[in-house]
Amino acid sequence: MKVELNVLDFLYRAVEVFPQRLALVDDPGVQGTLGRLTYAEIGQRVKGMASTLDAMGYKVGDRIGIVSPNAGKFLISYFGVSGYGRILVPINYRLNAEEVQYIVGHSGTRLLLIDPEYADVFSGVKVEQKLILDGTEDKELFAPLREGASVPEWLGDEDFACSINYTSGTTSRPKGVQMTHRNAWLNASTLGWHTTVTDRDVLLHTLPMFHCNGWGMPYAVTGMGGTHVVQRKIDGESILSNVEQEGVTLACGAPAVWAATLQGAEKRASEGRTIPGRDLMRVVAAGAPPPSRTIERIQGELGWEFIQIYGLTETSPLLTVNRRLKEWDSMDRAELARKLAMAGTPSIGVKLAEDADGEVLAQGNQIFKGYWEQPEESAKALANGWFHTGDGGLYQDGYLRILDRKKDVIITGGENVSSIEVEDVLFQHPSVAEVAVIGVPDPKWGETVKALVVLKAGATATERELQDFCRERLAHFKCPTSVEFRDELARTATGKLQKFKLRAPYWEGHDRLVN
Ligand code: ATP
Repeated sequence: MKVELNVLDFLYRAVEVFPQRLALVDDPGVQGTLGRLTYAEIGQRVKGMASTLDAMGYKVGDRIGIVSPNAGKFLISYFGVSGYGRILVPINYRLNAEEVQYIVGHSGTRLLLIDPEYADVFSGVKVEQKLILDGTEDKELFAPLREGASVPEWLGDEDFACSINYTSGTTSRPKGVQMTHRNAWLNASTLGWHTTVTDRDVLLHTLPMFHCNGWGMPYAVTGMGGTHVVQRKIDGESILSNVEQEGVTLACGAPAVWAATLQGAEKRASEGRTIPGRDLMRVVAAGAPPPSRTIERIQGELGWEFIQIYGLTETSPLLTVNRRLKEWDSMDRAELARKLAMAGTPSIGVKLAEDADGEVLAQGNQIFKGYWEQPEESAKALANGWFHTGDGGLYQDGYLRILDRKKDVIITGGENVSSIEVEDVLFQHPSVAEVAVIGVPDPKWGETVKALVVLKAGATATERELQDFCRERLAHFKCPTSVEFRDELARTATGKLQKFKLRAPYWEGHDRLVN
C-alpha cells in the first residue's frame, strides 16, 4: 500500500508518541511569542491554523507568505500551511520592501504574515491580506483548534509543493524553488540519518527558517520528538548562552555563524567564563565553503563536532555530507579540519556526476520539480535528467570537492583560480577576520585576483604581508595582485558573501564572461 508522503507525518508521530514533551522554546524577546509548548499543544495549533485558513477562504494551492526572523509561529506554519495543500512562501526579512513586493507578486501570494518588528518596513507591500504576528491580529490564526471546527485533508507527495523558497540571490534575481512534500520528506529523513538526530536532541534555530525550510532539520527533529529552541538574532554570546541554558545539542548555520560563535567564545574565555556544549554539541554547516581554520577551532577550542553538508535550495538542500569517518580517527586536529573542509560524500539516494566543464550534476528524490512560473529556467536547470548545480567541482572516489561557483572562478591569463582556495589560505592569517576573493578586470590577463579583507578588531596587516603569506602557500598565479581592506563585506541574511555585488563596482564599463 502506498501512502502519500506529507511533512505532517513528522509532526503527528511526535504528537502521538510524545504528547507531553517540550517541543518548543520560543524566543522570549518578541511580541506575540508562543513561549513553551508541548507537542500536543503544537498539534492543536497546527490544526487550528489549517482550519482558520480554510475558513478565511484560502484554498488548496493558495500561496501564504511569511516574512519573519525565526519564531515559533514560523515552525507552526511549516505544518499548518503546508500540510493541508496550501503553499508556504517563506521570505527573507532582510530584503527591502521592493524585493519582498517582487516575491509576493511573482508567487501570487494572497496572505502575507509579517513579524511585528518589520510591520513598518513592509507596510507598503501590496497584497490581498496582511496579518501582523503580534498576538492580536493573528490571535485566531495561531489559536488551538476550536471545538467542532473542521480540519482540511492532508495533501502531499509529488503533486503538492509544501513551499516555494526564493533563492537568496547571491548570483541573480531570486528564483522561486518549488519544494514538494516528497522532496522535503526525503531530504529531512536523510539529513536525520547523516546527522544522527535522536529524541534527545535540542535544536537551536540559528539558521534562518526562511532558508529552504531550515534545511529540513525542523522536520527531522520534530519526527524524533526533539526540542526546538528558537533564536531570532544571531550573535555568538546568545548562541552560547542558549547552549548553556537550554541544553542545546544541535544547530545549523553558514560558516559565518560559527565564526561569530568563536568570537563569542573568545570573549567568554577572556572573562574566565566556561564554554558550554563540549563533547555534546554538533554543528551542521553549509551555504558556503567553511574555512578549515574555523573547523579546527570549533573542534579544538569548543569541543563541538563539525559536520559539513553541501546543497542548494533546488535540492532541498542535502546533496553531500562530510562527517568524521572512522578511518580518520588517528588524524590530528588540523589535518581532520582540512578533510572536513570538503563537501563530502553523497547523501543516501543522491547520484553525482560532473559534466565536461566540471560542473557538478545531481540526481535524487530531493531535487525540486521546477521554478515557479519560470519554465525556461526550470528546463535549463533540469536538462538531460540531471540537476545542474552551477558549482564547479571534482567528484572522485566517492568524494566531492567544490572548487568554486562557476560564476566566481577567476580566469586569469587562461588559468582558473578557485576563489575558495585563496580565501582558505588568507583565513589562516592570524589578523584576518573575513575575506572575499574576486576577479577584477586586468588589461593584460583579462581578470586578476583581488582580495577584500576585514581585519580582526585591533589587528594589523599590510597588503604586502598578506600577498607574501599567499605566495608561501599558493602558486604565483593564484595570489592576489591587490588587497583592499574593508570594514565589512556584502552578505546575504544567511551569511553568504554576495560576490556579484562585491565585483560590480570594478566591472563598470567592462564585460565579464560570466556574471
Ligand atoms: P542564487 O541561486 O540566487 O545565487 P543562493 O546562493 O541562495 O542563490 P542557495 O541555494 O542558497 O543559492 O545556495 C547554494 C549554493 O551555496 C551552492 O550552489 C554552493 O555554491 C554554495 N554552497 C552550499 N553549501 C556549500 C558547501 N558546503 N561548500 C561550498 N559551497 C556551498
